[in-house]
Amino acid sequence: MGRPDETAFTHPEMDHPDGDHPHEECGVFGVWGAADASALTALGLHALQHRGQEASGIVSFDGEKFHNHRGLGLVGDNFSDARVIAALPGRAAIGHNRYATTGDTVLRNVQPLYADFEFGGLAVGHNGNLTNAMALRRALVRRGCLFQSTTDSEVFVHLIAISLYSTVVDRLIDALKQVQGAYSLVSLTGEALIGVRDPFGVRPLILGRLPTPAKDGGWVLASETCALDIVGAEFVRDIEPGEIVVIDDSGVRSIKPWAKQPSRFCIFEYIYFARPDSIVEGTPVYEVRKRIGAELARESHPDADVIVPVPDSGVPAAIGYAAEAGLPFELGIIRNHYVGRTFIEPTDSIRNLGVKLKHSANRALIEGKRVVLVDDSIVRGTTSRKIVEMVRAAGAAEVHMRISSPPTTHSCFYGIDTPEREKLLAARNDVDAMARIIGVDSLAFISIDGLYRAVGADNRDPKRPQFCDACFTGDYPIPLTDFAAATNDRQLSLLAEG
Ligand code: SF4
Repeated sequence: MGRPDETAFTHPEMDHPDGDHPHEECGVFGVWGAADASALTALGLHALQHRGQEASGIVSFDGEKFHNHRGLGLVGDNFSDARVIAALPGRAAIGHNRYATTGDTVLRNVQPLYADFEFGGLAVGHNGNLTNAMALRRALVRRGCLFQSTTDSEVFVHLIAISLYSTVVDRLIDALKQVQGAYSLVSLTGEALIGVRDPFGVRPLILGRLPTPAKDGGWVLASETCALDIVGAEFVRDIEPGEIVVIDDSGVRSIKPWAKQPSRFCIFEYIYFARPDSIVEGTPVYEVRKRIGAELARESHPDADVIVPVPDSGVPAAIGYAAEAGLPFELGIIRNHYVGRTFIEPTDSIRNLGVKLKHSANRALIEGKRVVLVDDSIVRGTTSRKIVEMVRAAGAAEVHMRISSPPTTHSCFYGIDTPEREKLLAARNDVDAMARIIGVDSLAFISIDGLYRAVGADNRDPKRPQFCDACFTGDYPIPLTDFAAATNDRQLSLLAEG
């Protein structure tokens, strides 16, 4: 609103001063059959704000026409004005929160994407990342398709447009069979709300039902259960990996166009991405995080006086760790939730103060103590180092760090924004070297086996639920077609350079 279309934009709340966490991906939400569908969608997007803070959008259908509003920034920036919601009438709507994993943060990349087809309008919101989008895009451009955005998600629109099948659902299946990667989709046509989860089920998607009669008993699709709670909807079930649900006034129809294969749900959703009050794949996220902390304490526990979480994401694991270790849990680091856009930092000394904008040490709880800091992940290590310096400056006698994920040694290509591999601290250093760089007396990560025990799965038993754990193991379940082609191109150009 009021910002020029093509101006790249960073919102203060997503201007992460740290590179020590992967960034969340996207959140999707959809409603069918409720009088105030757009207002419910705005509420759902609020609950999913942690999954994307760069932009948000809603498309509604009023029985005759589609309406849409998309904007850069937080949901509150775009949908607080009642007039905006009033301009999105209808009993069906879909919404999307974006964190850019591909494409710039400009208005034309904000979802839901919308297009007019020969069969009518279709809007789509995508959580995930396609691994062959560049290859498909090049082929589509050669066939004359004109792309309006730089997002991977737009290939869905063009593949649907050129499909020779007649029904929307058959065209969608035709398109899905050509893409590779991770996708949980919500799509809205004049006839139905459609939800899709990729065959590996990498990203979450759930079905809920609004109460009858207050909200007409309408249906809801959402990335997480926390978005059902905010609109008063009941959880019905997870959309299964490889399932398409078509929701209209006659109910929910399920289509499974792919042969069943083992699920590879993103294990990082449990560690960090999902909101702690969400129930993911039938398991409460908060409980899993506490169990991970307890496993971590069983695996590696130094002599210490106090367990301190790196807030906010390290809190549940630290609670589990402290309970297992039998040590006090204290909020020895306080997080400032009201940090605005980091001001321009003119000198190194001012820049080094930057971390204190977001975190400060609670000296009374730390001074003279042997402290175990618990955090969920280390990506680049920059913020960890600054936090350790801060805790030492507050008088800690010893600083140990325990991480509730295994070392992040590989980049994610399935919808999570991680730096390229060379920038990952764990890709270049063993744990001892990382401890020296971060400046701790000791450092340990939960083992991959310990992580699987905490989520209640066995990573060596092919019959039990499996997860994607590629950022810890390099075992990518879905081909990295574009990445492999780019690597090949780079190698060819190096060879050409001699
Ligand atoms: S690579 Fe890591 S972050 Fe990406 S989907 Fe797999 S487990 Fe999740």
